[in-house]
Amino acid sequence: MKIRVLGCSGAIAAGFKTTAFLLDDDVLIDAGTGVGDLSLEELARIDHILVSHSHLDHVLSIPLLADSVLRLRAESRRPPIQVHGLPETLAALRQHVFNGIIWPDFTRLPSAERPVLSLHPFTIGECLELAGRHIEVLSAAHTVPACGFAVAGAEGHWVFTGDTGPNPALWARLAELRVSQLVIETAFGNEEQALADISRHLSPARLGEELRQLAGVVDVRITHIKPGEGAAVMAEIAALLSPHRVSALQAGQLMDLG
Ligand SMILES: [Zn+2]
Ligand SMILES: [Zn+2]
Repeated sequence: MKIRVLGCSGAIAAGFKTTAFLLDDDVLIDAGTGVGDLSLEELARIDHILVSHSHLDHVLSIPLLADSVLRLRAESRRPPIQVHGLPETLAALRQHVFNGIIWPDFTRLPSAERPVLSLHPFTIGECLELAGRHIEVLSAAHTVPACGFAVAGAEGHWVFTGDTGPNPALWARLAELRVSQLVIETAFGNEEQALADISRHLSPARLGEELRQLAGVVDVRITHIKPGEGAAVMAEIAALLSPHRVSALQAGQLMDLG
C-alpha cells in the first residue's frame, strides 16, 4: 500500500495544490486541486473518494472528476464512484454543488440507474473496508462537521487529521493505535493565532500542545500551509523542539504503508 500526495497546500498558486491523497490507484482521500495532475486513465481508476469535510479546497475536484470520467466509466460499465463522507458533508454536496446550478447532479447522470457518482454516509469511529484496506474515520474539530482518517498499514497507521483545531478526542483514540505516520495540519503562523482559533485550524503553538499528547517518536508531516508561508511556519515548528520527527509534507511525495 502506498499513498501519493497530490496536493497538501492551504491555498493555490503555481506549484501549490490543495489537499488530495491517492491511496494505491483507486482510493482518493480528499479531492482538492491536486487531483487535476492525474491523467484521464488514472482518474478513471478511482473507485472511492473519502471526503474529510465540505470546504471547497477539499471537494472541488469531485464534480470536475465526475465529468472527466463519465464516458470512460460508462463505456467499460464500471460501477459508480463511491463518495464517502459524514451525512452533513454529503448533504452539503447535494445542496450546494450537485444542485443543477453550480454543477449537474452527477448522482443521477448519465442515468439515474447507472450514475457516475453515489454517496455513502459514514460516522466518526466507523471502520471502512475498501477492497481489503481498513480505514477508520477519526474525529476532527473544525467549523463544519469534519473528520480525519487512519489507514491501517503493515507498520502501523497512516493518520491524516483533516482540517482541525485542538482536538483532545483525536489523541485519546490515537493512544490506542500504533501510529507510523501522522499528517497534521498547521494552516496559520503564530502571528495569526486569532484567525486560526476562529477558523478552527492549528498554528505552530497549538500544534506543539497537540503533539505533546502523541506518545513515542512518530514521523510527523505538516500539511495545509499557505503558499509563501512554508519557511516561516516550519521555522516556528522547529522552535518547538518536538521529540517527533517533524517535516513539511511535499506534493508528489510517496508514503509507503508497507
Ligand atoms: Zn476546512
Ligand atoms: Zn482546508
